[in-house]
Amino acid sequence: RLLRLYKEVSGKSPSKGQLPFSTDWFMTWQPNIHASLFLNIHEYLNKSSEIDEIDVVIKAYQLYLEQTQSQGLEPLLSVTRAWRLVKFIDNGMLCLTKCNKCGGSYVTHPHEIARHFTCGLCNPPARAGKGKAAGALHMH
Ligand SMILES: [Zn+2]
Repeated sequence: RLLRLYKEVSGKSPSKGQLPFSTDWFMTWQPNIHASLFLNIHEYLNKSSEIDEIDVVIKAYQLYLEQTQSQGLEPLLSVTRAWRLVKFIDNGMLCLTKCNKCGGSYVTHPHEIARHFTCGLCNPPARAGKGKAAGALHMH
């Protein structure tokens, strides 16, 4: 299974400096929560271990899948999107910003003013309500 994931990521990874997809998907409400969950795991692994970039992505993605599956959630983030997300972070097109209410770190555009930033869980769009997906995916 790991090998399959590895092939999927390395086979489809975009070339450096050329990113065919926009950052918009990561900014929509539920994908943002999933992307943030993945990225928090990724950042944690990145700091705590000396492993190759692609292995960090694969490992973080595995943990992300375990997190969502253990909570009965559909994993919205595909492994290729996860890889792309890491590249967007590398390129400075996206970053992590702390929510001023819960203190969790979320994927945002780089110029978000942290002091004024409230995450999608603390401030869900009106039509989203307090769904299972929102409540279940709190970051620690
Ligand atoms: Zn928050």
